[in-house]
Amino acid sequence: MGNLGLPERAQNLHDMVERGVDVLVIGGGITGCGVALDAAVRGYRVGLVEQNDFASGTSSKSTKLVHGGIRYLPQYDFTLVREALVERGHLTRNAPFLVRPLGFLLPLYKDARRPLGIPIVPPFGIGLGLMLRMGLYLYDFLSGRLGIHPHRRISLHKASSLAPCLKVDGLKDAFIYYDAQTDDTRLTLTVLRTAAAHGAIVANYAEVCGFERIDKAITGARVRDSMTGQEHTIRARYIVNATGVFAERVEAMAGGEPSMRVAPAKGVHLTVPREPLRMKHNTAVVLPETEDGRILFLVPWGPRVTIGTTDTAGGDIERPLAADEDIDYLLRHVNKYMDCTLTRQDIISTWAGYRPLVHAKRSRAKTAQLSRTHAVLLGNGGLITIVGGKLTTYRRMALDTVNEIDKKEGKRGLPDTTTLSLEGAEHWDKVRKTLPAQATALCLSPDIVRRLENYGDQALVLLDLIREEPALGKRIVSDLPYIMAEVVYACRYEMAVTLDDVLTRRLHINFEAWGRGINVAPAVAERMAAELGWDAAEQQRQVAAYRPLES
Ligand code: FAD
Repeated sequence: MGNLGLPERAQNLHDMVERGVDVLVIGGGITGCGVALDAAVRGYRVGLVEQNDFASGTSSKSTKLVHGGIRYLPQYDFTLVREALVERGHLTRNAPFLVRPLGFLLPLYKDARRPLGIPIVPPFGIGLGLMLRMGLYLYDFLSGRLGIHPHRRISLHKASSLAPCLKVDGLKDAFIYYDAQTDDTRLTLTVLRTAAAHGAIVANYAEVCGFERIDKAITGARVRDSMTGQEHTIRARYIVNATGVFAERVEAMAGGEPSMRVAPAKGVHLTVPREPLRMKHNTAVVLPETEDGRILFLVPWGPRVTIGTTDTAGGDIERPLAADEDIDYLLRHVNKYMDCTLTRQDIISTWAGYRPLVHAKRSRAKTAQLSRTHAVLLGNGGLITIVGGKLTTYRRMALDTVNEIDKKEGKRGLPDTTTLSLEGAEHWDKVRKTLPAQATALCLSPDIVRRLENYGDQALVLLDLIREEPALGKRIVSDLPYIMAEVVYACRYEMAVTLDDVLTRRLHINFEAWGRGINVAPAVAERMAAELGWDAAEQQRQVAAYRPLES
């Protein structure tokens, strides 16, 4: 596997500046990484620049579901659900080690009014169970041959055994349906590494701060390397703006009237321990009806549970933070449906992100693609903006974007990424069988093996690191499965260049550890120092600069 560390970062920037690229992608979230991969696979010389760390925007703040979006069914948005279910199917095949099926327990209570947001309220709730069932049949049907498992109705007894804390008072029916779960940051990094393996040249901490033009056409981007403070120009024949909630701002740099308006919608999650909710590790729970007609998920995440999410308009997109009312809202609904009293003391962390919801602004704006999920917009000077969509649909968004470039080039859009394995998938079938035995021989516990599975066949690289230096098999936090070998891997192969890159994104210690990992920061910094050549002063600076998200 190719290295992708600090030296490669400098080389890549130099290469982009010296030689220019065919396609420059701005933004290293899932959308930008997907576009870089698609364009590289089609033979373009691709560069990608990200102003902070890869996946530091919305792509690390999602509910981490690869799903069709069952809540869109009652809105009759079948096209959207079908599109996402198809993408879910491709992802479970192209990255089976990272996108895994998960059962969702959907309870129905006697006093339900509009579970899942169904639009019609039958008198006395008669027939609600049947309506839900029809919806679940439709969900299975829309996934077609790419489906996971069909839904099933389960007994109340079974429901209680799957989610012992679920309130049984008034429970009249229960179902299990299937979607998939992933690690959003790791998925983004995996797509990024796959793009790099196909020739894409990538760099984080490189912010686009302006454009170069000849006449009206944009011919390049001015990029500020925030590690050196230097500004460079990267020439590009096409520039793709994949900056999520920042897309309008980046479009404004191109001058003229922006073609769209991004309406950010904030979503907040809580991370809590699994014990108070007595959740099983393989079943999520759907809270079917909130006071504002939405649904919430309780999703198992190793020894923790993720609770989310809220959906409120507006806010500071630079600093997504959970407000008190967001936290109260989530706790109130959990305590309504679960037989427990979850309080603020149970919260390990809160985290927030912004959905990049898009509205076309100029009626004359040339809209290449405007689907319910995402839009590809052709803006001033030839800037191509891709915005909206979901983590689940990134591949389809990338396909639509690069098709626009192919159209301008007069090329046909082949090959595409429908069946392209992501890095880690190629030998996964074989590695999956031997990984537990190899890991046990190195004294790694089962939860660590499950964590290593997220790397697919690249888990063997981590095992080799531990063989060379057994201390790398040690846990970083006593009740979490992260090990020191991952820190080394992050620096060598995933371009982690700050302590925050490791503690917040490559590993999720910032979200999952009590105290947000402050106590382990010096040890992790020491290990990173050995990889990245930090001196003692830089180590200290990194520890001081590691600011865990506020809760
Ligand atoms: P981002 O991830 O925000 O990436 C944009 C990047 O552009 C950022 O990293 C930013 O730093 C960079 N950038 C900005 N300006 C510049 C510049 N000038 N120069 C260089 N770089 C720049 N989807 C699902 O499928 N499943 C879910 O379970 C799910 N849950 C969600 C829950 C919440 C609360 C939210 C908010 C969203 C959820 N989504 C989910 C949607 C999904 O997370 C987003 O659609 C997706 O992550 C957006 O990715 P993106 O790459 O477009 O944006």
